[in-house]
Parts: sequence; structure tokens; C-alpha cells
Amino acid sequence: MARGEKPGALVSLREHNRLRVISTLRSRGAVSRAAIARETGLSRTTVSSLVGDLQAAGLVVEVEGADGRDADGRRAGRPATLLRLDGSAGAVLGLDFDKRDIRVAVCDLSHQVLAEAKRDLDVSAAATEAMDLAAEMTEEVLEESGVPRDAVLGVGMGVPGPFDQSAGTVGSATILPGWVDIDVSEAMSSRIGLPVSVDNDANLAALGELTFGAAVGAQEVFYIKLGEGIGGGLIVGGRIHHGARGTAGEIGHVAVESTGPVCRCGNRGCLETFAGTRALLDSLERSHGPDLTTVDMVRLAVEGDPGCRRVIADAGHIAGRALADLCNGFNPELIVVGGSLSAAGDVLLDPVREAIERHAIGSASAAVRVVPGVLGARAQVLGALALVLTGDVALPDLLLARAEA
Ligand SMILES: [Zn+2]
Repeated sequence: MARGEKPGALVSLREHNRLRVISTLRSRGAVSRAAIARETGLSRTTVSSLVGDLQAAGLVVEVEGADGRDADGRRAGRPATLLRLDGSAGAVLGLDFDKRDIRVAVCDLSHQVLAEAKRDLDVSAAATEAMDLAAEMTEEVLEESGVPRDAVLGVGMGVPGPFDQSAGTVGSATILPGWVDIDVSEAMSSRIGLPVSVDNDANLAALGELTFGAAVGAQEVFYIKLGEGIGGGLIVGGRIHHGARGTAGEIGHVAVESTGPVCRCGNRGCLETFAGTRALLDSLERSHGPDLTTVDMVRLAVEGDPGCRRVIADAGHIAGRALADLCNGFNPELIVVGGSLSAAGDVLLDPVREAIERHAIGSASAAVRVVPGVLGARAQVLGALALVLTGDVALPDLLLARAEA
């Protein structure tokens, strides 16, 4: 635990407040003094004084905000002066295990990504091999970025299926057969010698878009990943909502047709069996042949191919119906659409919007905007970084010593 979390006993109030300023900067990237005051509840005078200490210690630097807007997107008239943690304050690592590849990234506490790597592997079948490879890639990105291991605050890790936070294991034997009964955090942590926090890939993609991408500043967000698999991440009050056993947001397995095809989860007629890319490519086989790929299908749709446009639009409509139910139940302000199908743009998004407007309660559909994700296939690995940046992890001794100096 960070010493900042037990202020009464060991730490002076001033030191405690200094740690709160560091935490705010760590989770937000670049912010104004006024935003720090709002978020911590401290007075602006106190914030300025604490920031002065941290600047003197070389932990905080000033940067100019872009376009005359502050970090919250408000018009500031002139470029606002923002504060960031200095690059030397520390770093975090992100590991993303997707179905067919692994990504690893390292960033500093000012949210600058310093190095990234990607390798292809059949992740769902082979947990041991996948984690061994990720450990190798971790060494590579640390070396490339020049970040020493003891400067790493923590590691965020994404797995491509439901993850049970209380058990620490993958929550579905049918979705990730090679990962069953493994204590994922412990298994990865023992390979790289650093503390590892784990979450589901769609939750991390949601957190990635919230911290670095299309959902910055939003509080009530649903992220839907439309690809070979369909997943979702629910952000409530600016934080990931896991539910009782980690399956919150699993929209891909909402039943749309109770007599439909059997899904990999074992149920029948899930959304994924109708709107996942496999289903779309299957229905194009007669017209476009057996070798069509998702990338080709999306490109052809954007270029105007009627068959490809038709299946993607239908997928958007079916997903939109499921999202309409979700809008009624959860009332998000923003739906971010990611995954490989999202590259189809409005061919996909317009039918999603129409279905929500038609099937959700008026006030729920009026409240929500549907936008494409902006991080693409990097959403999950950036979310893995954000898991540590925005999480409740302890600050490393190195950083604490400098903050106290
Ligand atoms: Zn299913």
C-alpha cells in the first residue's frame, strides 16, 4: 500500500496531499492547477504550493495546452498552462493478449508511450507459450525505452475473455480453453518480476478510449468491440464496472434468436453468431468466395460493394438492437464502437444509430452519441497502461523518496 493511504498514522497531511496531487496527474496525464483543485477538493493556493514543491523536486513540469483549451476541453481563451509528471517520475507497462496476437507497451507517467511491440500467436490455446513470449517482449520494450525495471510502477494485462476478479482466473472454459484454472496475475508476475493487474480485453479497450481516445472526459460509456468476437466494456462514473463475477458488458452473448446457431459460449443464437465477422464472411461465401478476409470485406464495403455493405449494415442493425436494450437499462452518454468491423465507418454506425433510435426509449436514445473508437487495435494495450495509470496501485519507493525530498 502507498503510504499516502494511511495519512493519520505515518504521513503528515502535507505529504498526503502531495501524493493526491501526484495521483491526479498520474491518472489524467496533463491537467491545469484548477482541475487538480477540483479533483482533490484542495484549495487552489494549497495546490499551487504543493505543485511548487514537486516542480522543485523535478517531478512535475509545465506544458502548454493545445488550441487554447484546457485538459477538460473547455475554452481557455489563451493556451492554458498544464502540468504533467516528468518522464523521470516512473513508467508503467501494458500487456495485451488478443486472440491472435500479443502487444506490449511502456509509457511514462505523463502518458507518453515510449516503446511498443506486437507478435502473432494463437493466444487462446496456449497460455504458457503466450506468457513466455510476453515476458520476452517485456524485456525488449524496457530495453528499447531505456526504462529501468525499478522505475516501473505496475503492469496492466488484458485477456481475451471474461475474467473473474475475485478468483483471479479466466471465467469461461469454452472461450479461453488454454487458460482455465491459471492464476493469471501470479503466472505473469513471476515471469517478469513486477506486480500485474489483469482485466478483460474489452474492459481495457473501454478504459483505453476513456484515457487516451474517443471517450476522454465522459463518465457513462459503453464500449463495444465488433470483430471476430464481440465484447463490451461498461464505464460507470468514470470507472470500469465488472459486475459480480466479471461478465458485465458481455454483449456478444446476448441472445438475439433462441433457435439460432450454437455459439462458442455454449448457448444458441448469441449476437456474436449473427454479427461477428465469421458469420458475415460465411454469408458472403456464395457471392465472394471462401478466401474473403475481414479487411477485404470492410474495404469493399467502403468502396461501395453492395453485398459487403449489406452484411455489415445488417450486423450494425442487429448490434444496434442489443445496444438499444442496453441504453434502456444503463443510459450511457456515449457508445464507442471499436474492433475490426468499425473501420467500415458509417456503413456500420448509421444502422447502429437507427436501431438505437427505433428500439430504445426516446430519452435514452436522445442521451447517447455513437462514435467510432480512435485507437484501433491499440485500444486494449493502451487500456492496459491506463489500468495502472488510473488504478489504486501504490507509488514506488523511488517516487515517494523524491516527492518527500
Ligand atoms: Zn455466446
